[in-house]
Amino acid sequence: MGVNSDQLRLLPSVDELLQSATGKRLSEQYTRPLALAAIRASLAQARSEIRAGVPCPPQEALLARAEQALQRGQQPHLRPVINATGVIINTNLGRAPLSQQAVEAVQRVAAGYSNLEYELEGGERGSRHRHVEALLRELTGAQAALVTNNNAAAVLLALSTVAAGREVIISRGQLVEIGGGFRVPDVMRQSGCQLVEVGTTNRTRIGDYATALSERTALLLRVHPSNFVMSGFIESTPLNALVELAHRHNLPVMDDLGSGCLLASEAYGLAHEPTPQESIAAGADVVCFSGDKLLGGPQAGIIVGKQDVLARIAKHPLMRAVRIDKMTLAALEATLRHYQRHEAPSHIPIWRMIAASTETLARRSSHWATHLQAHNIPARLQRGISTIGGGSLPGETLPTMLLALDAASVPMPLADLSQRLRLRPTPIITRLHHDTLLLDPRTVLDEQDEELVSGLVEEFSNK
Ligand SMILES: *Cc1c(COP(=O)(O)O)cnc(C)c1O
Repeated sequence: MGVNSDQLRLLPSVDELLQSATGKRLSEQYTRPLALAAIRASLAQARSEIRAGVPCPPQEALLARAEQALQRGQQPHLRPVINATGVIINTNLGRAPLSQQAVEAVQRVAAGYSNLEYELEGGERGSRHRHVEALLRELTGAQAALVTNNNAAAVLLALSTVAAGREVIISRGQLVEIGGGFRVPDVMRQSGCQLVEVGTTNRTRIGDYATALSERTALLLRVHPSNFVMSGFIESTPLNALVELAHRHNLPVMDDLGSGCLLASEAYGLAHEPTPQESIAAGADVVCFSGDKLLGGPQAGIIVGKQDVLARIAKHPLMRAVRIDKMTLAALEATLRHYQRHEAPSHIPIWRMIAASTETLARRSSHWATHLQAHNIPARLQRGISTIGGGSLPGETLPTMLLALDAASVPMPLADLSQRLRLRPTPIITRLHHDTLLLDPRTVLDEQDEELVSGLVEEFSNK
């Protein structure tokens, strides 16, 4: 007891620390109340460490801790991370990174006034949708287009407009949960329509839909089961057969695609992802998809389809509640222009990642390894796979070359190392697989290479 209380008596007072040169500087830099709180917290931490048998730290160490806490407190809470997981559309990490042009478009519109809802020609009120409507019509072949803040909102809005109080026929194989609690049956109920399930989990035929039709039917709905794959004894009804049946009964068909993939995914060694162009060509009346999945743009919901139905959707009171904001619109327009100019694969980050060759990826990970080895960090390369993620192209993988750090050659538990990497000012998010920490160059932006390597070096030497 004697030792501990002697050590406790050695601790300086709050005032002593606050009046020191460093203390004064911290007060000036961060305001006195914040500096005071950080110094108190630093002293409290030292007190409990001393009680646990640690000797009293020197004054500089106490102030250094306070300063670190103040620095951490100044960091924005929402901030960029380095995604070394190899999951390209990672919902937890903000889905699609924007292209340079999309970022610049946001900046231009965010910093000042814009013609968001203003017709420059006539000097009168305009619609925010028209900034992207022509582009979306051109790219998908649809008659009309609308945008919302995300695809969940687009689905809710479209169902509420077209089918509230009436029946919607859907295959049992398409009553999916997308993630984050988004379940198709719940959204349908929320929109006030009644669900009529047809077929079985693995097989639904056109006859199942035909039998379920009644005078209460408002809509035939197809939902792309975007985040799981079924194989074996399966059968689903092609969209054009649904359209043919529905239109014979003067009913519309809605297609929730999930991912709005405008490019041919099979050209990149992936399975074919249904495109909005195909749904429109098949005659679907309403087609919904996300802006930040395979489209590679900002979070948004896109509705394309027939003029008359979309005009009704645009007038629904919910439209206001789910409307898109000006920064998102700016990013969406810039993203869509990449497709219009046929430069999407080279300009849109997620498509560049998908298109990256194994040779390019191997060159980057071996470049990382060389730098780490120069600091005596035994990194090696390992073949592996990247995935699309974000509920898009489930089960589809892309071959990659990973940087691997083995537990046996790392001076601390791998879980600790991965946590240290996560807690950096620019967090580095890695993949922990058994006894190896893996980093995939595919999802690391080129300009983050240096930061990634120096981060690893620092956390290694900082044991
Ligand atoms: C992802 C997804 C949604 C939800 O889209 P958000 O843009 O995330 O709101 C809806 N339906 C399907 C089929 C999806 O895959």
